Amino acid sequence: MRASDLVFATQREDPRDAEVASHRLLVRGGYMRALASGVWSLLPLGFRVLERIGAIVAEEFDRAGGNQLLLPALHPVELWQETGRNVTMDDVLMRVDSKLGSLVLGPTHEEAVIAAVGPDLASYRSLPAFVYQIQTKFRDEPRARFGLMRTREFVMADGYTFDVDREHMRVSYQRVYEAYLRVYRRLGLKAVPVEADAGAIGGDVNHEFMVPSAIGEDHFASCRACGYQANVEAARRGRGPDRVLPPIEQPRVYATPGAPGVREAIAALRAEGAPVDDDGMLKCMVAYDDAGRTTLVLVPGQRSVRLPRGWRLAGEEAFRPEGPFFLGYVGPVGMREAGVRIVADPMIRERPWWATGNNAEGEHVVGVRVGVDFEVDDWIEVVEVVDGDPCPRCGAPLALVRAVEVGHTFQLGQLYSSRMSRGTFVGEDGATHPFWMGCYGIGVSRLIAVIAEEYQRDGGLAWPLEIAPFQVAVVPAGSSDDVAATAANIAEELERMGRRVLLEDRGLSFGVAARDQELVGAPLWVVVGARSLARGEVELRNRVDGRTLTVQLRDVAQAVD
Ligand code: ATP
Ligand code: MG
Ligand code: MG
Ligand code: MG
Repeated sequence: MRASDLVFATQREDPRDAEVASHRLLVRGGYMRALASGVWSLLPLGFRVLERIGAIVAEEFDRAGGNQLLLPALHPVELWQETGRNVTMDDVLMRVDSKLGSLVLGPTHEEAVIAAVGPDLASYRSLPAFVYQIQTKFRDEPRARFGLMRTREFVMADGYTFDVDREHMRVSYQRVYEAYLRVYRRLGLKAVPVEADAGAIGGDVNHEFMVPSAIGEDHFASCRACGYQANVEAARRGRGPDRVLPPIEQPRVYATPGAPGVREAIAALRAEGAPVDDDGMLKCMVAYDDAGRTTLVLVPGQRSVRLPRGWRLAGEEAFRPEGPFFLGYVGPVGMREAGVRIVADPMIRERPWWATGNNAEGEHVVGVRVGVDFEVDDWIEVVEVVDGDPCPRCGAPLALVRAVEVGHTFQLGQLYSSRMSRGTFVGEDGATHPFWMGCYGIGVSRLIAVIAEEYQRDGGLAWPLEIAPFQVAVVPAGSSDDVAATAANIAEELERMGRRVLLEDRGLSFGVAARDQELVGAPLWVVVGARSLARGEVELRNRVDGRTLTVQLRDVAQAVD
């Protein structure tokens, strides 16, 4: 391709709001442009990288028996009511009113895929089956940031396996898990699979794929001694059951959603050094009850909190205090014992029995009374995992590693299929059974940012060969016709060999062209200079390892190969 045909414009200045290198470089390089907060247009360069990542995922999933399909982003809300996730995933669901009635924009596709392919898999003879798509997801993230790392609309490669029983589900899971490892290897990333806690998706065994990174929003626990690797929630669980505490007299759950006093309470928390970050987000521990119906947000990120028995701690999240979330407090006795501070909150002092939550219909209600609207029997003590804690497997000290989540695989079992009308097949026994499912997600658009973080070079980028928007840039250094013609010939020859080539033909000085090409990030440059050309030579620059070779003109193709 000719640079004069490529729609792209680099910019010299860093975008004002960019906190991380990938965000800065991808904007400056003309890969993408923001349309709204957490909503990005991928420009031709960015789209090329996205397509390459998608192609690698598709190749590896196809090798694992995958069938690519495309599911809609628009889902009737009734579909989500079948599994109850219109309630449990309410916080991320984006809703659309239309002539069709209420729709949601799919944040994930377990329901939609069962509706789409369930009828085709209605007999055990059609199982196992593995389908996947590379498609746009919508999540109303409270905290879109870091460019493509966390967006409200993003591209995911999501796969789903269907099996007759647990054993077969595990076999399918293993096959996809291995495909994941091949994908990340080809992308040039060291992704670490860690045992994970199921979170809101639910199910049994699951793994997160983590790329260690200073800008990661997650942590995993890693043991050098025995190789144990787990995310912090799973490591906490691995340590053994949480301690059950005796019932508290007059247990109470308090919350003050958007109520008078919340802002003041937050200001007070902040003044006391509570973890409110620069975005004005308050870091809290979040818990879900067994049914996933009620969310309790605990303030703030202490090591140890008390939860009603049957509740799961879902880890630390950040909330915008003014947003649709609410602050909750576990009863004053429990909190004090657990070392959680209560701030002066007029709402609490006046109405100690107030709480909020989502009721069974998913409505957000204020004024739920413990003991009336729901019961709390036992309380458990949950203690956070921190750096240096003993490994649950061998006892050696754990290290906490900061990382970015680039993928997630789940053994779902019958969690969703059992709730859905199309979620069943007729088994060899003639009876009807829910599918045993696995689900798998790779963050394709997030990976663009993760790889850009890893492959920054000299203020620009040097993409791994497999996903580079252009693998070779042919850059003339000199303005003679001879130089331009030679550069064009080399580009043509390399393109014939199947390389993705960008010919710098814009008549720019070498210095200006090189600054652009540093951002375009081809891992190989062929520099055609007037003086070396007179000797029948060109220069080959490997931007990944920084080495430069002088090669004979006739050997260029071979050297690039
Ligand atoms: P996170 O913990 O980062 O919020 P998640 O656990 O909610 O991610 P999954 O539901 O496991 O995400 O989705 C599969 C993959 O999709 C994630 O591993 C991640 O790579 C990607 N992903 C999830 N949310 C986003 C987002 N808001 N923007 C970009 N990519 C995302
Ligand atoms: Mg998330
Ligand atoms: Mg996650
Ligand atoms: Mg996940």
